[in-house]
Amino acid sequence: MIIGTPKEIKNNENRVALTPAGAKELVKRGHQVFVQHTAGIGSGFSDEEYVSAGATILPTIEEVYAIADMIIKVKEPIEPEYKLIKEKQLLFTYFHFASYEPLTKAMVESKAVCLAYETVEKTDKSLPLLIPMSEVAGRMAIQKGANYLEKPLKGRGILLGGVPGVLPAKVLILGGGIVGTQAAWMAAGLGADVTIMDVSLARMRYLADVMPANVKTMMSNEYNIREMVKHSDLIVGAVLIPGAKAPHLITRDMLKIMKPGTVLVDVAVDQGGCIETCKPTTHENPTYIIDDVVHYCVANMPGAVPYTSTLALTNATLPYAIQLADKGWKKAAQQNNDLIPGLNVINGDIVYKAVAEAFNMDY
Ligand code: NAD
Repeated sequence: MIIGTPKEIKNNENRVALTPAGAKELVKRGHQVFVQHTAGIGSGFSDEEYVSAGATILPTIEEVYAIADMIIKVKEPIEPEYKLIKEKQLLFTYFHFASYEPLTKAMVESKAVCLAYETVEKTDKSLPLLIPMSEVAGRMAIQKGANYLEKPLKGRGILLGGVPGVLPAKVLILGGGIVGTQAAWMAAGLGADVTIMDVSLARMRYLADVMPANVKTMMSNEYNIREMVKHSDLIVGAVLIPGAKAPHLITRDMLKIMKPGTVLVDVAVDQGGCIETCKPTTHENPTYIIDDVVHYCVANMPGAVPYTSTLALTNATLPYAIQLADKGWKKAAQQNNDLIPGLNVINGDIVYKAVAEAFNMDY
């Protein structure tokens, strides 16, 4: 198969969908790999590294789309790319169709086959191509939070781990899923006093088993949250209710009972945020302050660490990309059922119910 990887053109997107190591695996299996000039540069991979791996560099995005049977990229195509997509071309990338109607319409009109990373699903209902980004964001939440707790950045001026003779900071994590667990490991490793709140007893039993002694668990409800926020220095929002907006677990009035300089990192911002006062921010301008409480609500946290994010993402996508290249999308999906829910649009038809319903389109 001919595989093409264009350079991402979405604002501030430095990840790339294929590393030189990934290109080499595909070439080894007899596939041809075409990578756009400087596609990997934002993640630290030069054109020369791709060439050494057996790929061919093409100067323009138009050439990559024109030659490829399968396009593998990171973000959904944006307007200038729509006209480049060919009938029957396989696109393997994040799409998040339900959030943007023009993209959905353009992909239907293109008659391409759209396999979305975010809906590839294992039989246990886990989403293998979303997990790596949650892992990155969870770990990063503590790194960012620790930073914004510093006084010059308007935080409380407290060191997460304390020092001998001085108590560590208190970290509250709302939601003990992938993001929350990774955040807890990081905070615990730095010596903080960590509490994870969740509504799932089974999840908290698991966390209580595997976490170190400085991580405690507590049932998430309004009463407990109201008590905990009074004494917390750093609060991480990491809840997810699949298919729904995040619940506002921290309401505006709770800011008044927090200590001045408390830092809130709402990782769930992409689902509307679990903090009522959360509004999406960017890496250029990541924080704002309300009632002396610092809010960090960057919607694409992994974008700031493209090297790690690219490797984490491609570790998860490459096995699927190889199956798609070796067998074609139909046979690959028959033999690996994870791929079936990944199919959102096939040759002009929407085949994913929630996407069709979102825009009242045929399914
Ligand atoms: P997950 O499904 O693994 O975990 C969510 C957890 O929230 C579950 O354990 C669930 O039981 C818990 N939960 C549900 N309702 C709750 C409540 N009322 N109180 C406490 N806990 C509750 O999800 P995840 O992969 O950890 O993702 C968390 C959020 O982070 C999602 O919104 C995801 O989209 C977002 N995310 C954001 C970024 C970013 O860059 N901002 C990156 C990756 C993920």
